[in-house]
Amino acid sequence: MPKRDAVMRAMTNDGAFRIVAARTTDTVRRVIAAQELSGELANDMADLLTAAVLYRETMAPSLRVQCIVRFAERAGQMVADSHPDGWSRGLVQRPSPDGPPDIRQTPATLEMMRTLPNSELHRGVVEVPETGNLSEAFMRYMQLSEQIVSMISLCSDVEGQTPVAGGYVVQLLPEAAEADAAMAVMTERLERFVDIRDQLRASDASPARLIEQIFEGMPFTWLHESGVRFGCQCSQIRVMTTLSLLDRAEIQELVDEGEPLDVGCDYCGASYTVEVAHLQGLLSAS
Ligand SMILES: [Zn+2]
Repeated sequence: MPKRDAVMRAMTNDGAFRIVAARTTDTVRRVIAAQELSGELANDMADLLTAAVLYRETMAPSLRVQCIVRFAERAGQMVADSHPDGWSRGLVQRPSPDGPPDIRQTPATLEMMRTLPNSELHRGVVEVPETGNLSEAFMRYMQLSEQIVSMISLCSDVEGQTPVAGGYVVQLLPEAAEADAAMAVMTERLERFVDIRDQLRASDASPARLIEQIFEGMPFTWLHESGVRFGCQCSQIRVMTTLSLLDRAEIQELVDEGEPLDVGCDYCGASYTVEVAHLQGLLSAS
């Protein structure tokens, strides 16, 4: 069976734990190519994108989420979006050409946002620990902002011989009986799954296989599997909508230049051409 990106959910039959596990390798590779990332920054982007997928599947499977690592002193940011249709995308914003600094050497925050069913935003911010460990930052966010005890691993090795990216969230459910004892057992069990790169690289690797390994010997029930893929929501219509928000004078300036306007998408690299006639159309419409 060909390996493909997916996210899988399961729950232990005693009602104590739920797990969400994801393989994001192919999606991450597309993001890294579109953003031209390498080295640690590529792995950090991979982990952030996996976090976005897991966060949405854990908290709001049918709504969109955005996760942002913001470096101190406006030194840049990394953004990952995950959409209920299954697509995800990432963006690295560099204020300078060297840009953004190493998350292990520069203070940064992790901001998590999800839309609520009433279309309001739920937003929380935590400090990224000095080690730059995004799994820890994500766990801290879940604990502090969502009041959910969870154990999280985000793992990636995107430049190795066998590039991999993925992770999991094990969540203690509110209805768990003898929660402390259950947590002690799970914490010990998960010590073997802090770094899951070997599991992700294995020939039979899949989110389902990872769940079988983590819940080995514990009766559990499969809940749901969904797809994960690289995608973007840019389109010619969105480009036109954005342009229509410009001042009339700015649009007039573009028309006067007399050349078609090329607009690129910062997320996916797609490019759109807006003909002068269409720019003129914006003037007559406004
Ligand atoms: Zn795009």
